[in-house]
Amino acid sequence: MGLLEGKKAFIFGVANDKSIAWAIAQAFHREGAKLAFSYAGDSVAKRVIPLAESLGAELVVPCDVRNDEEIARAFLSVNEKWGGLDILVHSVAFAPKDELKGSFLDTTREGFISALEISAYSLIALSRAAAPLMSGRNGSIITLTYYGGQKVFPNYNVMGVAKAALEMSVRYLAEAVGPDGIRVNAISAGPIKTLAAAGVGGFNQIAGHVAEKAPLRRNINQDEVAGAALYLASPLSRGVTGEVHFVDSGYNVIGM
Ligand code: NAD
Repeated sequence: MGLLEGKKAFIFGVANDKSIAWAIAQAFHREGAKLAFSYAGDSVAKRVIPLAESLGAELVVPCDVRNDEEIARAFLSVNEKWGGLDILVHSVAFAPKDELKGSFLDTTREGFISALEISAYSLIALSRAAAPLMSGRNGSIITLTYYGGQKVFPNYNVMGVAKAALEMSVRYLAEAVGPDGIRVNAISAGPIKTLAAAGVGGFNQIAGHVAEKAPLRRNINQDEVAGAALYLASPLSRGVTGEVHFVDSGYNVIGM
């Protein structure tokens, strides 16, 4: 029997087959979970719908996380289909490209609001919609973060501030939904070449530095993040909540 046999998982953040959320979805599918996917915008739909179908997804719904009505509709559809939810994966982030290069001093008001809204507030909005569906089912909410939310990295800029807000939201949310038996955790992934990563100026330089300096002397891949997500989604981690779990070849433990 799979680790997630019979569990229902709603996955936010598949853009293409390089997305971290896609590796997570495949791992969940292998372990017996039933899947629902969301997508933001028609261009993403074209790629997400066939991917979702290839895993026998039971639901694929539009949801831009800036839109409260779309969020409400998405979770209503899930509830109508499944009558509850066990796992929510939040693998969503965005900042305008101009904010992800140059000096942090040039961060614009609009860029700040947009990055924080899409990359951090959205976890709160999705958790609020998911919590009533997860109550009494040992639910697990998982988000994706990056070490740039704890330390300064070149060009990561406002996204670092958004990840710091996201990680603190994980702790507050863990406390808010813990009494209903719902857990909230983040995975802090090392750099991986995806669509989102391509937007960060000097990405190759950061990835090269990790490969040189991290204890494992290499970068990680999507499947390694998916392994950690599987643990956090499953009863194996039933005593774990409010955590930021690093999957980064150990890079974060190095001082010099
Ligand atoms: P990705 O581009 O494949 O995924 C980002 C997703 O966010 C996309 O599916 C996109 O459609 C979605 N998104 C953006 N704006 C949205 C909106 N308004 N509404 C709904 N969805 C929206 O890239 P990824 O690297 O798989 O990123 C997934 C998560 O992992 C992000 O939170 C990212 O910050 C995090 N992360 C990535 C890395 C890395 O190096 N790739 C490292 C650590 C953490």
